[in-house]
Amino acid sequence: VKAGVGGPPLLDALRAAVGEAHVLLGADAAGYEVDWTGRFAGTAAAVVRPGSTEQVVAVVRACATHGVPVVPRGGGTGLVGGAVPRAGAVVCSLERLTAVGDVDPTTPSVVAGAGATLAAVDAAAARHGLAVGVDLAARDAATVGGMVATDAGGTRVVAHGTMRRHVLAVRAVLADGSVVGRVPGLVKDAGGYDLAQLLAGSEGTLGIITAVHLRLVPRPAATTTAVVGCGDVADVLDRVAAARRTGPLLAAELLQASGVRLVAAHLGVPPPLPEPLPALLLLLEVAGTPDDAAVAALVGGRPAAVALDAADARRLRAVREGHAEAVQRAAAALGRVPRKLDVTVPPGALADVLAELDRRDPAAVAFGHVADGTLHVALLGAAADEDEAALLRLVADAGGSIASEHGVGAAKAHLLHLIRTPAEVAALRALKRALDPEGLLNPGVLLPPAP
Ligand SMILES: Cc1cc2nc3c(=O)[nH]c(=O)nc-3n(C[C@H](O)[C@H](O)[C@H](O)COP(=O)(O)OP(=O)(O)OC[C@H]3O[C@@H](n4cnc5c(N)ncnc54)[C@H](O)[C@@H]3O)c2cc1C
Repeated sequence: VKAGVGGPPLLDALRAAVGEAHVLLGADAAGYEVDWTGRFAGTAAAVVRPGSTEQVVAVVRACATHGVPVVPRGGGTGLVGGAVPRAGAVVCSLERLTAVGDVDPTTPSVVAGAGATLAAVDAAAARHGLAVGVDLAARDAATVGGMVATDAGGTRVVAHGTMRRHVLAVRAVLADGSVVGRVPGLVKDAGGYDLAQLLAGSEGTLGIITAVHLRLVPRPAATTTAVVGCGDVADVLDRVAAARRTGPLLAAELLQASGVRLVAAHLGVPPPLPEPLPALLLLLEVAGTPDDAAVAALVGGRPAAVALDAADARRLRAVREGHAEAVQRAAAALGRVPRKLDVTVPPGALADVLAELDRRDPAAVAFGHVADGTLHVALLGAAADEDEAALLRLVADAGGSIASEHGVGAAKAHLLHLIRTPAEVAALRALKRALDPEGLLNPGVLLPPAP
């Protein structure tokens, strides 16, 4: 830790900012120094847990004085190493900012602290027949601040879009300690550059979000949930189109037989369809309770499991949601940490990408939100850096994205050129320099080191 200029040493300044009990060191800090996958880890100068926006300001000022970088951290469920300290940075955990305000059913919207979990905010919305428009399996730990910072996606994107679409306003602390953002915000406010939208997807590199004003969506009164067996990728895309004709499509999740077997074993339940499983399966959720003819149109004569009640639907969803954990455990059994890819694949390239994946790593498991092109891949074999880079290049060359919804993080900053032109990277750098000239906030994330 660098000696401060004209101030107390860093740790004293941090203790003064947040109180001694909320400055964690050594073993107490360990849980904040690694990401959910275990692939990315570092050592923090300290972990601080501010309890208010003012305390975040004091933390940022103390770190700026000492020239020590700050890494914002929400629930630590990110999968690209974005909330992991590098170079002895201070980790600023927002976990104490958990207040969820009253739901405004007129807008409809709610204000929440950045550290409130998705589950907590959604539970508040549910009491008014509303929901957060983004849903993901890490809902009990992922925070709304982290979700805005990563522009999170998830299963409901096909219906409601990604997190940025739901952001009405944020309050954030910038690198110079200034506080920006009016919370609650307004549904209409055409007052120039939209800082909230700039911070959405900025992965902690432009500001530390302390509060979020989120739009809410109607909670579907009933849903029809089914797992449909499909012969090949063309068949999957055909069923997605059929589902769109059946009713408002809420989710379309691609699964592979190998992944479904892994999750079923992990959960100790039978697979949703009898063996031998079709190579590809599709979890579909449509709003409403369609009649028998509509369900028949959804399934289209394929082997299928259709939920008869809410408990059935939960069981079918669990097969999709169990993938991340099952894959993690399977890799651990092999003594490995899975390499995870999070890519957007244009529909026309999906079959080629899956074939190349199988060629490079037959043990790989792929799944994802197929209606919006998201494919999550866990490389479980002895895949090397070059396999990972080749797959990402294949996706980029096909017009896809190497960062579908988890962000760029530390994992893919060096590959940003695959999806952004030099002019675009220069524009991103100019924004970063303007708001954070000293590179205090989350250096090494999103942007590659300056040439
Ligand atoms: C089982 C599982 C399933 C998942 N499914 C999905 C999915 O379907 N879709 C999806 O998009 N993601 C998914 N994820 C990834 C993850 O949940 C999301 O990226 C989520 O948005 C991260 O939120 P977090 O609070 O855990 O953020 P963290 O992991 O703590 O941080 C993520 C990034 O945001 C920054 N950050 C965090 N909080 C703030 C803040 N207050 N201000 C500024 N920057 C901040 C961090 O610096 C870091 O760069 C999944 C993860 C798991 C473990």
